[in-house]
Amino acid sequence: MKLRVADPRRPAILVTDQGLTRGDGVFETMTAVPAEGSGLGSPLRVRKEDSHLARLATSAQALEIPLPPAADWQRAAAAGLEAFAAGNPGVDAVVKLVATRGPEGAPGGGHYVRDEAGVERLTGTYWVLVSPVSPGLVAARERGLKVLLLDRGVDSGVAERAPWLLMGTKSLSYAVNMAALRYATSQGADDVIFTSSDGQVLEGPTSTVLMARRVPQQDGSIGVELITPLRSSGILPGTSQGTIFAAAQAAGWQLGYGPLEPSDLVDADGVWLVSSVRLVAPVTHLDGEEIPQDPELTELLNGFLAEDREPGEHGP
Ligand code: PLP
Repeated sequence: MKLRVADPRRPAILVTDQGLTRGDGVFETMTAVPAEGSGLGSPLRVRKEDSHLARLATSAQALEIPLPPAADWQRAAAAGLEAFAAGNPGVDAVVKLVATRGPEGAPGGGHYVRDEAGVERLTGTYWVLVSPVSPGLVAARERGLKVLLLDRGVDSGVAERAPWLLMGTKSLSYAVNMAALRYATSQGADDVIFTSSDGQVLEGPTSTVLMARRVPQQDGSIGVELITPLRSSGILPGTSQGTIFAAAQAAGWQLGYGPLEPSDLVDADGVWLVSSVRLVAPVTHLDGEEIPQDPELTELLNGFLAEDREPGEHGP
């Protein structure tokens, strides 16, 4: 695919694009950090790139949107990062990958079409946007988060029962997630954990929930159990959660998957919201009540995330 480096302040997308008119598309948000000792190539290294590209492909498959090959995304991200680094030396970057169904009325309706030679071509719209990490997010991570539990209005079995709802895919339709965050702000909170109508803990609007318990071991030592909600409950599988679990497993922690209820979070030794941009942010309050925090575990989890391990397979 032919690449073009564009100025993000200039118009670049048709007003008929279904990504705009219907939120009909998928995306990924990755981060890039200075590559240690790299004299050659891109001065910034994308973290967990393979996991993000794999999840982009899964989301696109769920929406039946054709994607260019991973190598094209990698080339585009590298070109964007080079341009970004030239103007922002030493600054960490957010790298957003977007694929939409393309303009309304396009040949193939945004699906693969074959030209006369029988070669498939893509009719979606595809771009990579590189921008600086917002300082607000870094501050929130350090301060900790006051979180509201908000009802998502669907039960934990909906993903399996109604795949057309696209639960657990990273589609462009994030208006509801953003509305939940605005509601939280209006109530004096910083963030949200969605619950299902049958009372399970799900995820944040832009993050995965983790909780930990310190557990006495048979040999008298204290181990750590790290738990995240059940993936089958209609949540997005987090790349940060996956890589943290891989490192935690290597460190001898016990790993667990839900179902979790809000009372499990209250009784935990620590609760965190994690994502690629925010990293590991401790939750300090749930619905206005202070909950236990464990700065040592926060530091360990941040260290696990920084290892950038391949997630591997860890459970449901
Ligand atoms: N859950 C949702 C709904 C998200 O939008 C995100 C990321 O934006 C996450 C979880 C965390 O995913 P990751 O750790 O891959 O950034």
